[in-house]
Amino acid sequence: MTKMTLETDVFVVGGGPAGLAAAIAVRNRGFSVTVADVAQPPIDKACAEGIMPDGLAALRKLGVNIPLGAASSFQGIRFSDGGSSVQARFARGPGLGTRRTKLHEILIDKAAAGGIGMHWGARVTGLTPDGVTINGINVRCRWLVGADGQNSRVRCWSGLDSIRTQPSTRFGFRRHYRVVPWSEFVEVYWTRHGQLYVTPVGPEEVCVAFLSRNAELRLEDAFAVFPEINVRLRGADLITREQGAVSTTRALRSVYRGSTVLVGEASGSVDAITGDGLSMAFQQAYALAEALVNGDLAQYQHSHRRIERLPRMMANLMLLLDRNEWLRARSLRALKASPQLFTRMLAVHTGELPLFRIGMEETLSFGWRLLRV
Ligand SMILES: Cc1cc2nc3c(=O)[nH]c(=O)nc-3n(C[C@H](O)[C@H](O)[C@H](O)COP(=O)(O)OP(=O)(O)OC[C@H]3O[C@@H](n4cnc5c(N)ncnc54)[C@H](O)[C@@H]3O)c2cc1C
Repeated sequence: MTKMTLETDVFVVGGGPAGLAAAIAVRNRGFSVTVADVAQPPIDKACAEGIMPDGLAALRKLGVNIPLGAASSFQGIRFSDGGSSVQARFARGPGLGTRRTKLHEILIDKAAAGGIGMHWGARVTGLTPDGVTINGINVRCRWLVGADGQNSRVRCWSGLDSIRTQPSTRFGFRRHYRVVPWSEFVEVYWTRHGQLYVTPVGPEEVCVAFLSRNAELRLEDAFAVFPEINVRLRGADLITREQGAVSTTRALRSVYRGSTVLVGEASGSVDAITGDGLSMAFQQAYALAEALVNGDLAQYQHSHRRIERLPRMMANLMLLLDRNEWLRARSLRALKASPQLFTRMLAVHTGELPLFRIGMEETLSFGWRLLRV
C-alpha cells in the first residue's frame, strides 16, 4: 500500500464508481483527495453494466471518456413480454455498456493522472472528530465523503440512516457471454417473476442479468420463459461465473451532516430496474464538487433530490408493471400501438425531455388504448 497522507482536503471512503467519480470531480476543482477501499482493483460487482446517456454526459463533464474498444454503445431500450415488443431510440446519442472491471480501470487511471491518492485493501474502521481511522492510522480531512455502498458504515456512524420510505429489496444475478451483440438496444424481457436484461458490453460480449423479487430464481429460470435467448446464446462461451447482488430501494432524509456527505448507493438507491444507478452517482459527483467549492452541503442535498426524483418516479412506475401482469401486458400492447409515446417516455427517463412535455392529449390517448387493446 502507498504511504498514507495524514491530512487531506477530502477523504473518500469507498473506491467504487461513485467514490472515484466524486474524487475526480472534487480534484478537478482543486481539492487534495484521498480514496480508500477495502477491496483490490479492478473491483467487480453484479450489475447489468449499462450507462444511460445522461450518465455518459455526466462522466464527460468529469473529463472521463470511455473508449469504444472497451465498451459497446446501445441506441435505446427494447421491452418484450413474449406477447408484445416495443423499442425506442434515445433522443440525443447512445448509452454505453462496459464491464464493471473496465469502468473501474478507466476511473482509476483518470484519478491517478489527477494526483488522487488511492489506497486499496484499506478498510476504514471508524470516524474521528476531524477525519477517519484507517488501518489504525488517523487521517484528518476537511470533508469526509461516504461512498461505501449500500450497507454504508459512514452513513451509520454519522447518524444519516434515517429513511424517508421503507427500503425494499430485489435480487440480481448476471453472467457474461462471448458473442457478437445481436441488438443495438438493451433488451428487457419481462417475466412474471422479474426482468431479464441483455446489455452489449463489448464488440464480442454481452452481459445477461436477471432481477427478481425471488432470491431463489436464477438466469436459467428466465431463459426457460424466453427460449429465443437460449437460441442466441447457444454455442457462446460463458466467460464469467454467475454473480449475484442485492438491489435496494432506499431514500434518506438527509445526505449530509456537518462535513460528512454521502454519494452513490451510500446516499440512497433506486431499484436497478431503471439502470440509473451509475448515472445518478456520476451526476451526484459533479454536484458534490460544485457544493464543496461553495462550502455548502445544503446545495448538494438540493441537487441530490433533483437528481434522484425522476429515477425514483420511473422505478415506481416500472415496479408497478413488475407486480401487475395484467397492467404490464396491456401497457406493452398500448405502447406497441403508440411507439412514439414510448420514445418520448424514454426521453423523459434520460432527462432529454421534460415530463410536462408529455401532454394531456397523449396521456389520454394512451389511457384509451390501455382500455381497448
Ligand atoms: C443486479 C444489478 C444490476 C444493475 N444494473 C445497473 C445498470 O445496468 N446500470 C446502472 O447504472 N446501474 C446498475 N446497477 C446499480 C449500480 O451497480 C450501482 O448504482 C453502483 O454499483 C453504485 O456504486 P457505488 O460506488 O455507490 O457502490 P459500490 O460499487 O458498492 O462501491 C462501494 C465501495 O465501498 C467499499 N467499502 C465499503 N465499506 C468500506 C470501508 N469500511 N472501508 C473502505 N472501503 C469500503 C467497497 O469495497 C466498494 O468498493 C445495478 C445494480 C444491481 C444490483
